[in-house]
Amino acid sequence: MTAAPDISITRIQRSKLQDINLENIPFGKYFTDHMLEADYENGEWKNVEIKPYQPLLLEPSLAALHYGQAIFEGIKAYKDQQGNAFIFRPQDNFKRFNRSAERMNMPVVPEEIFMDGMNKLINLDKNWIPAKKDHSLYIRPVMFSTDELLGVRPSETYKFLIILSPTGPYFVDPMKILVEEKYTRAAPGGVGFSKNAGNYGGSMLAATEAKKKGYDQVLWTDAFEHKWLQEVGMMNVFFVINGIAITPSLEEGTILEGVTRDSVMKGLKEMGVKVEERKINIDEVVAAYNAGKVSEVFGTGTAAVIAPIKELNYKGFIMKFDPETYKISKAIKSWLNDIREGKHEDKFGWMWKVGA
Ligand SMILES: *Cc1c(COP(=O)(O)O)cnc(C)c1O
Repeated sequence: MTAAPDISITRIQRSKLQDINLENIPFGKYFTDHMLEADYENGEWKNVEIKPYQPLLLEPSLAALHYGQAIFEGIKAYKDQQGNAFIFRPQDNFKRFNRSAERMNMPVVPEEIFMDGMNKLINLDKNWIPAKKDHSLYIRPVMFSTDELLGVRPSETYKFLIILSPTGPYFVDPMKILVEEKYTRAAPGGVGFSKNAGNYGGSMLAATEAKKKGYDQVLWTDAFEHKWLQEVGMMNVFFVINGIAITPSLEEGTILEGVTRDSVMKGLKEMGVKVEERKINIDEVVAAYNAGKVSEVFGTGTAAVIAPIKELNYKGFIMKFDPETYKISKAIKSWLNDIREGKHEDKFGWMWKVGA
C-alpha cells in the first residue's frame, strides 16, 4: 500500500451543539458537527476528509443496498474530570472491523485512517462528549460497497465513514428472554462473528415475534439442535452457575467477539471470580436452575454495557431470576465504570487518550 493519505479538515461555521440539550439524549439520535469520510478506489484509500456532518448523495444502484457488503463498529469515548477525552479500547474495535472486512470480502481500513482519523475527529468535536456520569460519545465507524452496478461480484469501490453521537445512560430494564428454537442468527462457516449489517437485518423478525409473545429479545441457539447457546439479542451472554461465570466460546465462529465480553472476563478474573469460556447448552442451564444454582444471567455490549436478564423461557418452561440480588454483574459494572472515570487503575491500558 502507498503512503497514508493526508486527512483534510473542513470545519463547520457554527456548532449545532448550542441547539441541543445534552440531558436525557436518546441513543443514536443526534450527531456531532463533523464526520470522517474516505473512499476506496483502484486499490487504495483516498479523499480522506473530516467535514461538516451531512447527507450522502448515492446512486440507486449502489452495491451495498443490493448485495449487503456493509460492516460497522460501536465504540465509546468518555471525558474525565479534567476534561481529557478517552476512547475505550478502540484498537480492539479497529482490529475487529478489519476481521469483519476480510470476511465480507472488503478492503481493510489502514490504522492511519481508522485510528488517526477517529482521534482527529473526536478531538475536533470534543465539546460533544457529555461529561456527566454514565454519558458518553458513541462512535460509529461504517464501511459499505459503492459500485454502481447490479452485477454480482465484490464491489471495487467502498466508502468508510465515522459519525459520532452523544449518548446518555442506556438504562435497560431487566429483560425477559425467549430461547429461540426456529430462527438462527449464526452457523459455523457463516458470518456470525463479523459485525456486518445483515446480521442485524436477519435477527429482527425473531425479536419482533418474541415481543409479540411478551418477551424483550431472544437467546440465540445453534442452527442444528437449537440447544447450544450463542448470544442474547445483539449482546454476548453470561451465566453465573455455582459461582462460576460461563460464556459461550468463540471457536465455531458463531459468536461476535465482544470487547465488553472480553473486558468482563478480564475484570471477573481480577476480582477472583472463576470464568469459563466454553460451549454451554440450555439443558445444562435448566438442570442448574432446577438445582437452584443459577444466580445471574446477563448480556454484555458497548451500548448497554451490562443488561440483566430476569426471565428465560425455554419451550414454555419459565426460569425466573432476581436481578436485585445480582452481585457479580453489579460489581463488574462498577469496576468498568471506575476505570472509565479514572477512579480505578487502568492496568490493562484500555483508556486510549484523544490528543491533537
Ligand atoms: C456488537 C455486538 C456485540 C457486542 O460487542 P461489544 O464489542 O461488546 O460492543 C455482541 N453481539 C453482537 C451480535 C454484536 O453485533
